[in-house]
Amino acid sequence: MADCPECGRAIEKSNLIEGEIFPCPDCGLELEVTAVEPFRVDTAPREAEDWGE
Ligand SMILES: [Zn+2]
Repeated sequence: MADCPECGRAIEKSNLIEGEIFPCPDCGLELEVTAVEPFRVDTAPREAEDWGE
């Protein structure tokens, strides 16, 4: 079982797939599924704000 790195909420695997980005239901932090077996999530990479400098 994985939990949100920000608020610690337990994240259920449900039907998420590897690489999927979804918001934490509690704090809204964007999370990325980094692995399915075992299920792990991590903070999703923020969109780069320096596109084209
Ligand atoms: Zn959270």
